Amino acid sequence: MVVLTIRQYGDPVLKQATKDVEELDGTVAKLVDDMVETMYAAPGVGLAANQVGVQRRLFVYDIGDGPRAIINPRIVEASGEWTFEEGCLSVPGLSWQIVRPNQVHLVGLNLDGEEISIEADEYEGRVFQHEVDHLDGTLLLERLDEEQRRDALKILRARALAG
Ligand code: ZN
Repeated sequence: MVVLTIRQYGDPVLKQATKDVEELDGTVAKLVDDMVETMYAAPGVGLAANQVGVQRRLFVYDIGDGPRAIINPRIVEASGEWTFEEGCLSVPGLSWQIVRPNQVHLVGLNLDGEEISIEADEYEGRVFQHEVDHLDGTLLLERLDEEQRRDALKILRARALAG
């Protein structure tokens, strides 16, 4: 397994929506293995394919029950509201209290191509929303309120200048 480079804020690949995986072949299985390895090395609890520069609709996560991959995930229902401190491996070292729906219903496929349907809330629900956002080309910065966003952009601009 290979630890891949995680793309950072400013990389255009993070702003592009991914395409559905059409065929679950060996390259997808290998990509999932490498993404899991990369997520653990970071360390993080979730990783979307475009975060490692691959424009395919899949993510991996592990919230404590072992690694899982969701292929072609979609959130088909969301309800409630929950505020949680959220960070992102592509925007390292920063986190914000972000309000999002609490419960979500996620559908997709597992690596064997079987349909899966998961009702998740709180932490798991948050991970799903964060990763599906990535696959739609949306970073958590777009979920901040105006003031948080102003502060965040100030920090990120200063970083870009320093780098
Ligand atoms: Zn992220």
